[in-house]
Amino acid sequence: MSMNSVNSKLVKDAGHIAGEWCQADSGATIAVYNPATGEQLGQVPDMGINETRAAIDAASKALANWSAVAPKERARLLRCWFDLIIEHKEDLARLMTLEQGKPLFETRGEVLYGASYVEWYAEEGKRAYGKVFAAPTADKRALSIQQPIGVVAAITPWNFPNAMITRKVAPALAAGCTVVLKPSEETPFSALALMALAEQAGIPAGVINMITSSQAAAVGKVLTDDSRVRKLSFTGSTRVGKLLYGQSADTVKKLSLELGGNAPFIVFDDADLDAAVAGAVISKFRNAGQTCVCANRILVQDGIHDAFVARFKQAVEQLVVGNGLDDSSTLGPVINQAAIDKIAGMVDKAQSEGASLVTGGQRHPAGELFFAPTILTGVTQQMEIARQEIFGPVAPVIRFKDDAEAIAIANDTPYGLAAYFFTESHSRIWKVAEALEYGMVGINEGILSNEIAPFGGVKESGLGREGSSQGLEDYMETKYLCMGGIR
Ligand code: ADP
Repeated sequence: MSMNSVNSKLVKDAGHIAGEWCQADSGATIAVYNPATGEQLGQVPDMGINETRAAIDAASKALANWSAVAPKERARLLRCWFDLIIEHKEDLARLMTLEQGKPLFETRGEVLYGASYVEWYAEEGKRAYGKVFAAPTADKRALSIQQPIGVVAAITPWNFPNAMITRKVAPALAAGCTVVLKPSEETPFSALALMALAEQAGIPAGVINMITSSQAAAVGKVLTDDSRVRKLSFTGSTRVGKLLYGQSADTVKKLSLELGGNAPFIVFDDADLDAAVAGAVISKFRNAGQTCVCANRILVQDGIHDAFVARFKQAVEQLVVGNGLDDSSTLGPVINQAAIDKIAGMVDKAQSEGASLVTGGQRHPAGELFFAPTILTGVTQQMEIARQEIFGPVAPVIRFKDDAEAIAIANDTPYGLAAYFFTESHSRIWKVAEALEYGMVGINEGILSNEIAPFGGVKESGLGREGSSQGLEDYMETKYLCMGGIR
């Protein structure tokens, strides 16, 4: 099966600048591969510095008109985009499985999840409120209004090729901003398909511009150096996020950064074992472990440790590894050769440091980029596998004695994105939730992200929040108006 199985209207092999589909000035292209088979799916333009400047020009030019469109009309256009995404959900899901690898049930889920941000911000854009303050003196009045921040640059990763785009573009557009977006070079087709639907929805030329490029550093530098770009929203690695943070200092841009995580998943003795096992499987193995909120360390209390590991092993061995286009598959490939080599290296190193293999542990025969779902026990917080983001289908289990030890281990990391814990005690729920130094906490839940809630991290996991009303505020500036001379 190839791209022929996807509605051709959605398969675009061009970038999009100022309302035009265009190739790179140099004519260069980037090949895009199916990670499940190695097959080349197609190619997209390899754009560079000049095209990025042209995209910023287009977004700047479109800004005055777009920010003046009534929020209700912007909402209508976003709603129309949402309806088109839903109408084409099966094609978008297939396209995503082809270029990203995760199973169809997950890409179908992501298309709905991604669309939910477009729907939410179509509604939320109508609810951007100002404030009127009690004035300090009788002859003054004081109020504030909310205005779009301006041109937004967005840089997105390959692990959620659809939702990481809608989560940024929908609130930006709802707020009245225009966008230059650079999707990941691994998964550009999902981005371009969303662009095609936005165009069909009637979102005006120049409001969303897309640059496909393998020259991420050069494109990123143009975006951060340009003073017309007032905000940068980035989802990706902590390394690149820190680089972009530094590069944005000169023009003092507003930043949203969704960076790496090292999520603890804590199972206390009094947990509901079935719920904890199901939560661990979904949190760890979803997207083959390639999400920034994946359980990265599974902390299990002494009294329930052996029972948990036995049940977890049974559940993990039921995962069906295979090509994501096969409806029976529940675990797809990882994204590329570098990723699988890194995962294999981490598993070997953990064993050499003293961890024991419970299941998996090696590459899987389904294809070059498939790794068998793996559980390691006897892991300690000092091992590399507990300190680094694994980004693969590998579950390291750490044993602990009491709440204080679990919290100390959980917080012993520069990251602070998502944490999870399972307990039936309401006191423990409050105490542990408050003690975890994380932006998001799943309590008796292995999946926590949705459009109504503020998604984001603390410490080196990032800045800002996506989703909820806060996700809209992050694309707006507050302007204070002081009126005097009132007699
Ligand atoms: P991942 O490990 O998830 O691929 P990256 O941070 O490398 O995370 O990539 C996330 C996004 O950042 C991708 O779109 C990638 O092309 C882009 N990117 C990578 N390096 C840079 C850079 N130096 N400047 C700007 N964007 C970059």
